[in-house]
This record gives sequence, C-alpha cells and structure tokens, in this order.
Amino acid sequence: MAKRDYYEVLGVERGASEADLKKAYRRLAMKYHPDRNPDDKEAEEKFKEANEAYEILSDASKRTAYDQYGHAGVDPSMGAGAAGAGFGGSNFSDIFGDVFSDFFGGARGNARGGAQRGSDLRYTLELDLEEAVRGTTVTIRIPTLVECKTCSGSGAKKGSTPVTCTTCGGIGQVRMQQGFFSVQQTCPRCHGTGKMITDPCPSCHGMGRVEEQKTLSVKVPPGVDTGDRIRLSGEGEAGSLGGPAGDLYVVVNVREHPIFQRDGKNLYCDVPISFVDAALGGELEVPTLDGRVKLKIPDGTQTGKLFRLRGKGVAPVRGGSPGDLMCRVMVETPVNLSRRQRELLEEFRNTLQSDSSHSPKASGWFEGVKRFFEDL
Ligand SMILES: [Zn+2]
Ligand SMILES: [Zn+2]
Repeated sequence: MAKRDYYEVLGVERGASEADLKKAYRRLAMKYHPDRNPDDKEAEEKFKEANEAYEILSDASKRTAYDQYGHAGVDPSMGAGAAGAGFGGSNFSDIFGDVFSDFFGGARGNARGGAQRGSDLRYTLELDLEEAVRGTTVTIRIPTLVECKTCSGSGAKKGSTPVTCTTCGGIGQVRMQQGFFSVQQTCPRCHGTGKMITDPCPSCHGMGRVEEQKTLSVKVPPGVDTGDRIRLSGEGEAGSLGGPAGDLYVVVNVREHPIFQRDGKNLYCDVPISFVDAALGGELEVPTLDGRVKLKIPDGTQTGKLFRLRGKGVAPVRGGSPGDLMCRVMVETPVNLSRRQRELLEEFRNTLQSDSSHSPKASGWFEGVKRFFEDL
C-alpha cells in the first residue's frame, strides 16, 4: 500500500511549525488512541500512521531528509538512502510520552534527569447490569509497583549513592552517527537516568520499586456502561527516582443479563404471552429493574409488538433523562393440549372459515404470494 504524505496524514502545511505539528498530532492521537477505540482496526491504523508521521516530522534531521527525498529518505524498508538510519521500529510510548507529558502531569518514559513517571494501569471491572445501573462500591486488588521502602526508591544500597553514568556522562542520552543522520538515543547503560547504581539495594535489585498487591475501593457511579473508564489519579505504578505515580484506569465491562438487553440508556426484554391474551387483550406483569409493573395489552396484539415503558430504562452516567424499557411480546403457541382443549380449538377453527379479516398479516402475505406467481 502506498504511504500517504506525512503532512497530509497530520493535516498540516509543508511549512508547519513544530508547535503546529505537535498540536495536529495530539489531536489525532487523542482521537484514535487504542484506549478510546478498543477493537477498532481502522482507528489503530490511523493511530500508527499519525505516530509515524509525527516521529519523522518532529525530528529536524528526519524532516529535512523527508522533505528532500520523500518516504525513500526516511523509511528503511524503501531501501535507497535510508539504510542504517536507525529508526525502524517506532517507539510509540516515547513519542506519546513526549507529546502527552503535559496532559499526564509529568514526564513519561525516559525523561532527562532520571525521574520517571510510573506507568498507567488498566483494570477490567466486571459488573452485573443492576450494579452498573444503580452504581456500587467495589474492592479490587491489583498488582502494582510501589516505591521500595528499603532504599526509599533510589535503588542504591543503604549507605551508598548512585554515581554518574560513565557512558553518557550523566546526560541520559547518547548521540550516534549513522549514515547522514545523527540520532539521539536513550543511554543504554543508565536507561536515561544519568546515574549508575554500583551497589544495588537487595530488596528491589536496584529497581527502586517492588511489586505489591494493592487493595483499592472503587466507587462506580450509577449508569455506567461497558467501555466506560473510571480514573483513579495516582493509583497506578509508582514513579521511579522521585517521579510521580501513574494513574489507574478501571474499565467497566457489564455482564450479559438473563432478562434485559441494554442498548445505551434503553433496555429491551422479551415477554411471552398466550395467543388467547394476545387475541382478547389483557394485563401482563412485566419485570423492570425496580420490580414488577403491570402492562396493558390491547386486543388483537401481534407477536413482536414493542411496548414502551417510559423512564424504566437506565439513567445515563453523564446525566440526562432516563431511557425506556421496551417490552417485546412474543405470542406463544400452546402445547400439550387436552382432548377438551383440542375440541374447543377445532370448533374455533371452524368459526374462522376462510374469513381473512381475522388474520391481517396472513391475508396480506397470501396476496403477495399470489401476485408473485402471477408475475412469473
Ligand atoms: Zn530498594
Ligand atoms: Zn547513561
């Protein structure tokens, strides 16, 4: 597949400033981020495409090469000119971290200076429909990285202190000359922290963080639906070397209900009724989330007819009027008839003769069939 022009991908002019690029990219990344578009292949492709475009255009030397040679100047798979340029696998998280740092209130990834914000965590919370509709408070246990108490997060053994990294001289980044590009990379030795631990803390093996089970109480507001996220600020992984903790995203998944199907704020349920009740009309008891209610059925009700119970649906979590409960009546054919019942029905059948006025659907259907064969 031919690659789209990077400027076109981001929707900016060729001469766009760095700030404009960043703005355009951030808008696309927010829109197409996989977290917001679960299981959406097209969004994922768009997200990757925007990432790639921004990765190239946000780097002055890569942008110059791209302006001069097009995709061939920057894409290793295109061969000519780009071989060994050294940015094949794009590192989404780093780019993401850079652009989103002000969103997430701290440096992500390998920020210069060493402090790293902890990762965001995702937890899938299974709820019953009733819990989702009414809201609930649940206790969850999550494995998370917390600051090591032995070394207070420094990663160095008590009494020792980290020393300046000898590979990068404490900068955390190294420059590598490859082809006609100079590529800046995170220091492989200190992973961007600028410090080396010569005597690691025995509790955390120099990581500064240890894994622990954390118990949290999560308040779920009424009206949530599958895919809704509850953000618990600062409840993600601990940051390292003094960096802030990440956030915990609790993602709601509502289990299927044996009676109700949910579609946004409306609920649907099937109600079986006898063909006699359907013909004569009557009063049915139907279930709602708040208990049983009576539903009047007019005479001559056809199977599949929807009856709307206003306000018996779900009150949306973001406010607004509650939805409706839609009851679909399903006319049931009687089985296991006694001799007497059979006689009554046969007598009833005889009264119908071939009077089609009793069967509005059938008469229309037979008319259609007749026309169909006459047209042949
Ligand atoms: Zn430690
Ligand atoms: Zn280093």
